[in-house]
Formats: sequence, structure tokens, C-alpha cells
Amino acid sequence: MDPKLKDSENPSGPVILKSGYKIWVERGLCIGAATCIAVSPKVYVLDKEAKAIILDSADEDTIENIIESAKACPVAAIIIEDAQGNRIFPK
Ligand code: SF4
Repeated sequence: MDPKLKDSENPSGPVILKSGYKIWVERGLCIGAATCIAVSPKVYVLDKEAKAIILDSADEDTIENIIESAKACPVAAIIIEDAQGNRIFPK
């Protein structure tokens, strides 16, 4: 069964979380290392191209943990902005 995505039109985002934060995965950078999934299994899964996509259950994770998942990405492919459009990670 296909995973339930936050936005099936934009599997890697950008998506707006209920907390107001915007996150997305730069697919051109993502190398499928899956460390983001190890940190935030409710937020990410790999698609058939081994690129991270964002799950509907992303809202169940805390923004603090999601920031940790972005920091854990070896190629800094996960981008996070706050509700005002300020870049949270990478700086
Ligand atoms: S950790 Fe980074 S490179 Fe690895 S799957 Fe996640 S976004 Fe892609």
C-alpha cells in the first residue's frame, strides 16, 4: 500500500505543518541516506527513486525533532522555515 502523504501533489513538499512550519526535501540533493527516517519515522519515507517524501503523520512529530532530522541529513536536503518565512535550517 502506498504511504499516506501530507500532499500527494508534492510528495517531497513544501508542506505546511499544523504548527505553521514549512518543510521540504530538495530532491536533487537527497541521496536516500535515510538518516532522516531514523530520527523522524513519522515524517519521512523513501519513494521508489529513494528520495525522501513527507508523510501525513508528520504533524505527530515535534518541530524540535524535525529540526534534528534536518540536521542529521548528510547533504542538508531538508529545509525548514517558520510561519513568517524565516529560514530555521539550514541557516
Ligand atoms: S537524510 Fe537527507 S539524503 Fe537521506 S533520505 Fe533524508 S533527506 Fe534524503
